[in-house]
Amino acid sequence: MARDNEFHPSRLAWLVAGTLTLIIVCVVCGKALSDDWTEAREQMVREIEADVRRTAAYIGTDELDPRVMQSMATTLRHEFVPEDIIDLAYYNQPQSIGYGQTISQPYIVALMTHLLAPEPDDVILEVGTGSGYQAAVLAPLVAEVHTLEIIAPLAEAADARLSRLGYGNVAVSHLDGYYGLEEHAPYDGIIVTAAAGHVPPPLVEQLAPGGRMVIPVGDTWQVQHLMLILKDQEGEVATRGILPVVFVPLTGGH
Ligand code: SAH
Repeated sequence: MARDNEFHPSRLAWLVAGTLTLIIVCVVCGKALSDDWTEAREQMVREIEADVRRTAAYIGTDELDPRVMQSMATTLRHEFVPEDIIDLAYYNQPQSIGYGQTISQPYIVALMTHLLAPEPDDVILEVGTGSGYQAAVLAPLVAEVHTLEIIAPLAEAADARLSRLGYGNVAVSHLDGYYGLEEHAPYDGIIVTAAAGHVPPPLVEQLAPGGRMVIPVGDTWQVQHLMLILKDQEGEVATRGILPVVFVPLTGGH
């Protein structure tokens, strides 16, 4: 008769199997928690920092807001690029997202977010949702992001993606952003991620007193200027050119 404390070969087999299962579970969970892209993101952040230092004379600082950089370091950019170019997600370059559109270069996303000077209570309007990445970078820094996209399939895909990733404070609308979105105006910040030939007057109108707008202005497919527009408490508007950039054009009926 086998006693309880007696060695039995099947016990050893169970012990080995149990230990192996535990190891596999730990490896899988550990990977899911850190995600495979942490290193790529850290490298991207270092490249943004280097670009910021290189362009310090234009942008008036050699360091961007640490909260903005934190958001760049934690936003899962690989979720916002097409599957077939996922390996390029964290390159400091724009990437194609289909329909002739692009997800902006990480340095430009960081710079535009910094120029917007986001505050936790801010309500922000973005024109040009694209992949939804810029909206995702803004989301943890502000109260609400309303983002407008003129190409229906891009708007739908970004909306689904942002919901899946848990961005509860971003609302995507399929609209011509030239006219803004009266419903939630005025906005503490407006960010336009497509180049306009001129600053759309409806957007200036929908900017709150004390608000800021960041917008590339210039001719299609030529070098444009990234502009920072400040509206003071009296509603007076001042415009500052920041640096030359290249964006896809703002299209639509205007
Ligand atoms: N912010 C995006 C990249 C923008 S690319 C991202 O993070 O991925 C510019 C986007 O602006 C494109 O998706 C384009 O379709 C959109 N767009 C162009 N004109 C527009 C308009 N009038 N209203 C809204 N979106 C517009």
